Amino acid sequence: MKRRSTGVFWFTHDLRLHDNPALMQTKLLVDELICVYVMDYAWQSSSLYQQANVSAPSRRFLLESLSDLSNNLQALGQRLIVLESEATAALSGVILESNASAIFRSESVGWYENRVWAELKKFKGLSFHSVDSHTLYTTNTLPFSLSDLPTTFTQFKDAVAGIESPQPIPKLGYLPPPPSAEYPAFEKVEAKAAASEYCGGESRGLAQLHQYFSGDKAQSYKDTRNAITGWDNSCKFSPWLANGCLSVREVASTLSGYERENKANESTYWIFFELLWREYFQWYALKNGADLFSFAGIKKQKPLTSFYPERFQKWVNGTTPYALVNACMNELRATGYLSNRGRQIVASCLVNELAMDWRYGAAYFEQALVDYDVASNWGNWQYLAGVGADPRDKRHFDLDKQTQQFDPDRRYINHWAGDNDLQSLDSVDAADWPIG
Ligand code: FAD
Repeated sequence: MKRRSTGVFWFTHDLRLHDNPALMQTKLLVDELICVYVMDYAWQSSSLYQQANVSAPSRRFLLESLSDLSNNLQALGQRLIVLESEATAALSGVILESNASAIFRSESVGWYENRVWAELKKFKGLSFHSVDSHTLYTTNTLPFSLSDLPTTFTQFKDAVAGIESPQPIPKLGYLPPPPSAEYPAFEKVEAKAAASEYCGGESRGLAQLHQYFSGDKAQSYKDTRNAITGWDNSCKFSPWLANGCLSVREVASTLSGYERENKANESTYWIFFELLWREYFQWYALKNGADLFSFAGIKKQKPLTSFYPERFQKWVNGTTPYALVNACMNELRATGYLSNRGRQIVASCLVNELAMDWRYGAAYFEQALVDYDVASNWGNWQYLAGVGADPRDKRHFDLDKQTQQFDPDRRYINHWAGDNDLQSLDSVDAADWPIG
C-alpha cells in the first residue's frame, strides 16, 4: 500500500487563504499537511543598533493575524501550529518528526527567510516548493533579469508599464488534512482595545480593502495621501500587505474593478503608482541581499554620520528640539503607525539634524511599525539617507516649512504632545562641555 505523503507549509508573510498559490499547490501534491508559523526573534537578540523587542502594537497585530488565520484554517479542518524559536531549528524539528516529503512556502524577498530556506535544503529527499505571491509581478514576467533591475524607480516604472500581473486566485475551499500526530494548537488571542485602528488578520484586511473602495475616497487620493494624519487620507493597506493578510494582486485587481465601475482618474492611477513603489523595493531587496542593510548602501558611499546615544534616545522618545518630529515619534510609539509624510520627516531629521547613522533609525522602525516590511523599510531609509535608489543626494526636509505646510494650526503637534518636552540635542555642563 502507498504511504501517505506529508507536507509542511511554512507561513511567513502570507497569512491568508485568498490568493495563496503556494498553499493551493499543497492540495495537488500531498495527502496530509502541517501548517506552521515560526515566531523567530533570534535576529533581535544581538541588540545590534540598540534594538529592543518588537513593539506591543506590532506583536498584537501579528497575534491577531495568526488568530484569524487559525480560525480560517480550522474551518477547512486544518490547524495552525505556532512555534516561538529560531526558524531553521523549529522547521527542521517538524520535518523530522513528521517524516515530511515536501515543504512549501510563498517566495520571500527577505534575506533572513531565504537563508533559512537555503539551510533547510540539507534535507535530502525533501522536495521544495516556493511560489511568488508577495509581489505584483513574478520573476518570469519581469521584462529584465533581476541583475538588470533598473537603478531608479522611474526607470523601473517605465519598464513594467503594460505588463500584466497574474490575477489573484480565489479563497481556498479545501486543504489536505493534518496528520494525526499531536502538535500544540495555537492559542487564540482576543483582540484587545488598541491605541490604533489596526486589527490584524485576513478578514479585517479584506474588509479595509472593500471599505476603502466602497466610497469615493479613491477619487481624491492624490490630493490627500500626503497629509500627516487622517484615516481616510490614504488607503491604510500597509499593515495587512506587510503581513500578507492582504494580497497585493487582490488590491490591484480591486482597484481595476473600481476604475471600470466608477471613474479612473489621476488619483486612482496614483494608488497603483504607490503600489509600484512597494513593488520596486521588493525586487530591489531581493537583488541587493545583505547590501540592503549596509551603511554605504547600494551606492557604496559611506555617509558622514555616526551614532550618538543621547540624540538617538531623544529621537525615539520624542524629546528632540523639534515639536513636529516629537509628535510623529509619539504617534509611532503609541500606535505602530506613521503617515508616509511623518516617516520622511523623522528620517530626514535623524540623518540631517541629528547626524545619525541611518541604520539605527531603520532598525527602530523595524521593531516599531505594525506594517514593517523589510524591503519597503530599508529601501526607503536608504533612499532618504542618500545611499539608495535616489539619483539625487540625501533628502533634507526643512522642519519649519514642513510644519507650516502640513500642520499650520499645530493641531497634530498638540494632539501628540510634540511641544511637551523639548530638549536640546546634546546635554552640556556649566562650561558648555558635552555630558555623557
Ligand atoms: P498609501 O499611501 O495609501 O499607499 C498604498 C500602498 O502603497 C501602501 O499600503 C504601500 O504598500 C505602498 N506604498 C506607498 N508608499 C510607499 C513607499 N514609499 N514605499 C513602499 N511602498 C509604498 N511601508 C511599508 O509598508 N512598510 C515599511 O516598513 C515602511 N517603512 C518606511 C520607512 C520610511 C523611512 C519611509 C519614508 C516609508 C516607509 N514605508 C513603509 C512606505 C510608506 O510610508 C507606507 O507604505 C505608507 O505610509 C503606508 O500607509 P498607506 O497604506 O495608507 O499608504
